Amino acid sequence: MHVVMVTPEIAPAAKVGGLADVIHGLGREVQQAGHRLEVVVPFYDSLRRNRIADLTPGPAGLVTLFGGAIVPFDVHTGMVHDLPCLFIDPHNDAFRRGRIYGERDDDVRFALFCRAALDLLVATERRPDVIHCHDWATALVPVLLAEEYRARGLAPRTCFTLHNILHQGRTGPDLLRRVGLDPLTQMVPDRLLDPVTPGAANLMKGGIQASDVVTTVSHRYAEEVTATDMGHGLQGVLRGRGADFHGIRNGLDEEHWHPATDSHIPHPFDRDDLATKRANTAALRARLDLADSDGPVVAVVTRLDAQKGVELIHRAVFMTLANGGQFVLLGAALDPDIDARFRDLADRLADRNDCRLVFGHDEDLAHLIYAGADMVVVPSRFEPCGLTQMIGMRYGAVPVARATGGLADTVHDAHGTDPEPTGFTFDAYDTAGLDNALGRALGLWHHHRAEFERLRHNGMARDWSWREPGREYLALYGAPGA
Ligand code: ADP
Repeated sequence: MHVVMVTPEIAPAAKVGGLADVIHGLGREVQQAGHRLEVVVPFYDSLRRNRIADLTPGPAGLVTLFGGAIVPFDVHTGMVHDLPCLFIDPHNDAFRRGRIYGERDDDVRFALFCRAALDLLVATERRPDVIHCHDWATALVPVLLAEEYRARGLAPRTCFTLHNILHQGRTGPDLLRRVGLDPLTQMVPDRLLDPVTPGAANLMKGGIQASDVVTTVSHRYAEEVTATDMGHGLQGVLRGRGADFHGIRNGLDEEHWHPATDSHIPHPFDRDDLATKRANTAALRARLDLADSDGPVVAVVTRLDAQKGVELIHRAVFMTLANGGQFVLLGAALDPDIDARFRDLADRLADRNDCRLVFGHDEDLAHLIYAGADMVVVPSRFEPCGLTQMIGMRYGAVPVARATGGLADTVHDAHGTDPEPTGFTFDAYDTAGLDNALGRALGLWHHHRAEFERLRHNGMARDWSWREPGREYLALYGAPGA
């Protein structure tokens, strides 16, 4: 089978969040199952060129029609790890903005990308069996396919994945005109008409309606976005897709996150060798100038964003310190208010030797924290899938997580029904919930250590790889034998 992914991100060359990692992890899985995979992605000026091998000019002289004008574009080819990529480079400033998203005309930039991606496939006589699109930025691909490009020879099965339903690509009917769609036929309830804002077009909704299958990144998130207002207005649309809407948990890149072979940590270890894990705890304490202690290390590694539950992260600091633990936070905040709040907290705790708050993005330190920590706290308001709880488990750090989205699917409470529990969960987003779950975790550590070690062991034994999710996607693609 020939699978083409059309995506705004690919790790590590163009990464903002988890979507980038999915392309990488799922792409490799598709290849390993023996299929031909290509990734179509914009040629951002902000691409990390040193993460692309063999970057060379590809087919030249291509054009697309946009806003009533002919827009020429070039294509560059290159390999991101093992994945062959086609980078689309329009002869204008659409992708020369120094960043991936956040521009006022994001809707226009990515609409142009969607058209150009399809024109590339037509012009180079690629006839993929499957086109897999990701998030609102590529949602116009299945719409344009249905309206125009099937008649031009493309006949793929289409899969559309929602990585975060908060961002839907709301825009005006004029964009539809520019991209070559007729607003009169598209601005209707079963196509792109936004269900919330009168007169607006909703690109994600268009992608949901026009694709053969629609997925999101965990079972629980699939339930939440169909059944509650976590669907941000699209719950009815998703319910309408019935059995064509699936939740498939994201996988973890098991090569990158492998405690026994991890070159970022000083003492690689496996689940039968927890004494070596302790050596990483000592290394973490030394690196952050924390006191030696018999207590547990409780950690948070996160974007500091409202989604991630900043109030409860704040609370977890004090809860841990009051219960004989040490607290480590590695966080990067884009929001200046959230940033100021945590820097203020760091100042207040600066004299203590049982707590360190580190700001910024630091891959090396993140690995050392997972390897050294006894618990990771993930109190998200919502979490489509989440990786930190899975990484924590793999590295023997027991998760304390809010039971939402992918966290609910992957963390099994010590007092729940799963015979092999892996952590602690709480339901409502409030301090009582966090206090209960983190209190139980710290209590087990202090008073029933063998029980705590059993949770740690169970978590390390779980399979969070892409194997199973990869098989589920291949089945949706209609791969023979999947
Ligand atoms: P999201 O994609 O919403 O940020 P996920 O839990 O899906 O959240 O993925 C987060 C990934 O980013 C994990 O691999 C985590 O280790 C990493 N990460 C988050 N914050 C930082 C940071 N400040 N420094 C280093 N790595 C980070």
